Amino acid sequence: MGIEERAFNAEISRSERNRALVVGLGVSGIATALRLRSIGWEPVIVEKAHGRRTGGYFIGVFGAGQAAARRLGILDAIPDRSPANSADYVVTRSGNRRSGLGFTDFPGEPRVMLRGDVEQGAFAALPDDVEIRYSTTPIRIEQDVSGVNATLEQNGTTVTERFDLVVGADGLRSTVRGLVFGPHAQYLHRLGYMIAAFMLPRPIGGMAANEGAMLLEPGRSLLVLPFADHPPTAFFSYRTDDVDTQFIGRPIDRLRAAYRPLPYGRLLGEALDAFEATDDYLYDTAEQVRMNTWSKGRVLLVGDAAWCATVYSGMGVSAALAGADLLGTMLQRHGDRVGPALQAWENHLRPHIASYQRTGIKQISLFTPANRRQLVERRLFEIVDRLPVIGAAIRRRLNSSEDNLEKERDIAFVG
Ligand SMILES: Cc1cc2nc3c(=O)[nH]c(=O)nc-3n(C[C@H](O)[C@H](O)[C@H](O)COP(=O)(O)OP(=O)(O)OC[C@H]3O[C@@H](n4cnc5c(N)ncnc54)[C@H](O)[C@@H]3O)c2cc1C
Repeated sequence: MGIEERAFNAEISRSERNRALVVGLGVSGIATALRLRSIGWEPVIVEKAHGRRTGGYFIGVFGAGQAAARRLGILDAIPDRSPANSADYVVTRSGNRRSGLGFTDFPGEPRVMLRGDVEQGAFAALPDDVEIRYSTTPIRIEQDVSGVNATLEQNGTTVTERFDLVVGADGLRSTVRGLVFGPHAQYLHRLGYMIAAFMLPRPIGGMAANEGAMLLEPGRSLLVLPFADHPPTAFFSYRTDDVDTQFIGRPIDRLRAAYRPLPYGRLLGEALDAFEATDDYLYDTAEQVRMNTWSKGRVLLVGDAAWCATVYSGMGVSAALAGADLLGTMLQRHGDRVGPALQAWENHLRPHIASYQRTGIKQISLFTPANRRQLVERRLFEIVDRLPVIGAAIRRRLNSSEDNLEKERDIAFVG
């Protein structure tokens, strides 16, 4: 759809518009609201936090995400913070280092940024008349054939409103999913890894600002990811057979324990100290959301709420943008008939998401090799990646990311 057509749709008067409740002001929610507004709908966004978050961790936006961002009209608004002349190293606790694979070496030429950058880029494009209610969350969702009654709670006050569509864009532990589709336990699948991500105040471990570092050991790793114009972010990932215990006590104590008993060395020691010094971090278990359907009547889920593939797939933001964009396309194509539109949306999207979820499992070993064999395979992957001609062919056999790139191209053309 051209810009003129979107502008024309935006002119439709408010009273004639279909009304959508979008739950969550992350990238999925913002992009969904933006796209719905562009086809003449009236989105209302509710967010449980008191305000819009900023910052976040390192994000790579790959081909499908870039294509969707272009169609959403926000590609130019999301930066690429890849450092010039970046260099990536595999480091050991004793300080030895050798050249290694960096995030930007992954197939697909990702645009590198902070999670907050892509959220800000999409948010800036939202028309001023899109209503956003903070400190607000749905507590009841009931639907009939012609609409949905959503009861919303804000600071102890509840109100029930009627919508034509409810979109749960409220992340991994989605309230909308819980209210409409069933308990988390039915859909969340733990991978047996814990992750922690946060912003470093400055480069650590003697690394220069343009240098990335990876400490890779059986079952545990640390990645330091550099930016051109911003201090780096750090990412811990470790394997555990007992996820529940990892949530007992302070995350920093769990992290320190996971990387014992060897002396930490400079890079790891400084990363752990920096984690202890900040309150602004993510510490969680890596879980995939697997569902047989992403919609029920006039309620649907998008982004991590529907299909979280985990950080290891590197496709969460891209899928969120593509899913939001495609939703608008299908609603428009089906003349706003919600049922057929959601069916078509899911039919187009599902093979790509399934592929991203498979990648999310396969690529764990690139981030955190589970054992010595996987460490050796990863080393082999690095070596063949550098071979000019046969590298690509061998790489295809070692890791099916190339297949995903094909699918990324497909998804880019859908709609
Ligand atoms: C360390 C890390 C690195 C990553 N790296 C990449 C990468 O390189 N590339 C990539 O594509 N993806 C990456 N991802 C994944 C990506 O960050 C997510 O897939 C993406 O941010 C999901 O966006 P979302 O909007 O669906 O959900 P979220 O970002 O979780 O947003 C959900 C929003 O809903 C709100 N909310 C929750 N519950 C309620 C409620 N009851 N009522 C109202 N509001 C609610 C939340 O406050 C939040 O604002 C990474 C993830 C992690 C953890």
